[in-house]
Amino acid sequence: MAGESSSVGKVLGEGGSLSRILPGYEPRPQQVEMAEAVAEAFDEGTRVVIEAATGTGKTLAYLLPALLSGKRTVVSTATKTLQDQILRKDIPLLRRVVGRPFEAVLLKGRRNYVCLDRVETFRQAPRFRTPGDRVHWGMIEAWVERTGSGDRAEVAQVPEDAPLWTELTVGAEACRGRECPHHAECFVVRARASAAEADLVVVNHHLFFADLALRDRTGVELLPSFEALVFDEAHHLEEIATGFFGLQVSNWRFADLLGDIRRMLRELAGPGAGSAGALPGVASAARADLDAVRAAAVTELEKAVNRADVEVNTFFDALAEAAGAEELRTGLAEVLDTPAGQRALAHEDAVHAAMGALRGRVMAASTGEAGARLSERIATLSAELARLLAREDDDLAWILERRGRGVFLLGLPVVLRPHFQELLLPVCDTQVYTSATLATDGNFAFFRSRTGLPADTAELLLPSVFDYMHQSLLYVPQGLPQPGAPTFIDDVAPEIERLVGLTEGRAFLLFTSYRNMRRAHALLAPRIPHRVLLQGEAERGALLEAFRADTHSVLFATSSFWEGVDVQGEALSLVVIDKLPFGSPADPLLRARSTHLETAGLNGFAHLSVPLAVLALKQGFGRLIRHRTDRGIVAILDERLVTRGYGRRFLDSLPRARRTRDFDLVRRWWASTKRED
Ligand code: SF4
Repeated sequence: MAGESSSVGKVLGEGGSLSRILPGYEPRPQQVEMAEAVAEAFDEGTRVVIEAATGTGKTLAYLLPALLSGKRTVVSTATKTLQDQILRKDIPLLRRVVGRPFEAVLLKGRRNYVCLDRVETFRQAPRFRTPGDRVHWGMIEAWVERTGSGDRAEVAQVPEDAPLWTELTVGAEACRGRECPHHAECFVVRARASAAEADLVVVNHHLFFADLALRDRTGVELLPSFEALVFDEAHHLEEIATGFFGLQVSNWRFADLLGDIRRMLRELAGPGAGSAGALPGVASAARADLDAVRAAAVTELEKAVNRADVEVNTFFDALAEAAGAEELRTGLAEVLDTPAGQRALAHEDAVHAAMGALRGRVMAASTGEAGARLSERIATLSAELARLLAREDDDLAWILERRGRGVFLLGLPVVLRPHFQELLLPVCDTQVYTSATLATDGNFAFFRSRTGLPADTAELLLPSVFDYMHQSLLYVPQGLPQPGAPTFIDDVAPEIERLVGLTEGRAFLLFTSYRNMRRAHALLAPRIPHRVLLQGEAERGALLEAFRADTHSVLFATSSFWEGVDVQGEALSLVVIDKLPFGSPADPLLRARSTHLETAGLNGFAHLSVPLAVLALKQGFGRLIRHRTDRGIVAILDERLVTRGYGRRFLDSLPRARRTRDFDLVRRWWASTKRED
């Protein structure tokens, strides 16, 4: 086997340490090849891009050379599932074969750790806004006494989105830093200190790019220094990084700031707070005068924060009304052009005036560091709101989003490449970019064009370890309706039912929209004689557990189940995909990015929409075969795959499965796999 004699080959290869300690271990040449490419990048301090399909064992293929190199490494992933796999499965295994002790830790964003200062403040004057708050507080208070990490994921009984967490955690802007009386025991400080000592730090892309953007803006670092960087699930880099290099103002951000000011207000107004009573050498009449001045400042601050609250809410209520739908992402200009949008705009000056007055009151009431920080935050938020509403910067796409009760104004970079080139590439010499889906049309040109990786970046496109030709069948039915037809789902429902009947359930039915998913579920759920699961009716992990537990179950889901889901064995024998997963042409960021390409003489559809959809389809397709013994059918109910010129780009990028448009052949193929079993 190639690479058996290399240091990574001696662990991963035929007769290597892993095969000696793991019964049934099957060495994979692709894994060894990837590990050698990563080892070379670590040895020489270079960059490499690697696509390694499902089943390659890519996490071990980069973790092993990283640990053998002795370089302090940051591994960044998009999903928690992958972080769990690295820390719970791969690292314990590697401890047995690396031959020297090493430290590997998970570092999360600040808001994942409970803030001891906030806990103390809350304990002194608890404010329960919902009955749930009281119950959650009981659990959190008991847990804080015994936790070693302060990682709120440890309190599984308190939901991630419980409102109390916003009271008990802080972002960088509200943290009191070295002034904090709890600094020495602070969980964030401790987590970062142990990360600074570790050989390997696992983070997510959000934390990584938050760090990169913060370093750029303020020079402050969240992550410890490192010598090597591995991005796994690197196909998410552009999408995630985009949010950190633009502007974002929301009603939540205002609420957070006003909440922090109210917290300071309570401290200032609390018993004895700021009283001049203790000042030595000050006559009692003068002390009384000073106390009266302070009390007046606190009263004025309270009025100012209440007024700001009213003006901000009026502004965002008008925007929400202008936007309409509760879940929406659209161009900001379109929203501001409506009558309610104009009302919001007309109210902008009132917001700035209220925030300006509030800033003055904060400075008057508090002379300390906390007041200065709040004052700075008020100024920054007002300035960002003004920039967003002025929309003068051509490099940003101006967007309005509604998510639940949140209203977000966004200015997102149309082209991310310069940010990558200026900030990411120089961060360290050794950089590995990997994923199961990075290549389109059999090369990395698209990924390179989006990230601006330099020409000397090495590439490795590994063949799959699975025999797709034997293990899978790609079926595109004949006579399909146009995917844009209003009755599309009604028309394809009989085909889905026929397929689910053939495989006796065991199916993921993946849809490109909630609307399609719900319609298909309404039509088919009563007709499917197996357990039917629907995304949204239970938490994702619970749904997957139920799916795995009942071999014949059928899951209706949307894009969030297109990736990061691993179901091995016969429980998943059929994946149905309703349409080619093109992004919505109405999406303002996609539109702005397409327009940018057009101005450079490139076709936005061919150079952006198609490659993005190809990568998404590869992810969806990848759900089916997770092991060498898996067999299954992928049905794509979109004729454009075979009738349009660009369909070939999809087909050429997918694993080389056997293909058919004939249901009889599907039936025979399925029967033959059953006989093999
Ligand atoms: S240092 Fe910051 S995060 Fe830590 S306890 Fe104090 S305020 Fe909270």
